[in-house]
Amino acid sequence: MIAPLTVGFDLDLTLVDSHERIISAYIRALRDLGVEVSSDDLVPHLGIPLTHTAAAVAPAVDADALVLRYRHYYDEPDAPRTLPMPGAVEALRCVRAAGGRTVVVSAKFTPAVHNALAEAGLTELVDVVYGELFAEDKATALIAEGASIYVGDHPGDIAAAHAANAYAVGVTTGANDEATLIAAGAAVTFANLDAFAVWLPGHSVPR
Ligand SMILES: [Mg+2]
Repeated sequence: MIAPLTVGFDLDLTLVDSHERIISAYIRALRDLGVEVSSDDLVPHLGIPLTHTAAAVAPAVDADALVLRYRHYYDEPDAPRTLPMPGAVEALRCVRAAGGRTVVVSAKFTPAVHNALAEAGLTELVDVVYGELFAEDKATALIAEGASIYVGDHPGDIAAAHAANAYAVGVTTGANDEATLIAAGAAVTFANLDAFAVWLPGHSVPR
């Protein structure tokens, strides 16, 4: 019997754009702790766990204090909205149309993953959610769910796919270009998830 298709997706800058929200929360949280940073300071260090970003841009700041303030600002009602990335709906739907299941695996705090999916209007299209897993650690979720494909925008996502023996799909909608994702081991890269949704139905991936 052939196992059903299961496709894993990274969250930030793969399925959703919470870029403005993340940057705003960092700037406000760090300001409370006496550190002024700009959007330009932060952009090269997004898509990794927040304590890693903090270590890169403000190494002297207490990580626990930052995490508390970051989550407070991130969850404020007036925080910038989280939007679906172009093609996110189509990509999740095409997996379902192929009889498959969709799994989201993110480094984000798990409740924030659910909130981001809800705000972007994607909740109904996602079967399983895993949070607080970064880079190779994501492989544990991919293996547990039997994912044969993992889609992400960061070299850590590509490493996770390899560690889970899944087909590594890169999307260049984050901070990493095609050359970087291919060098990390991506089997294929797409400019956005619309292109993935066109590709999937015609592609047979070993399951
Ligand atoms: Mg990402």
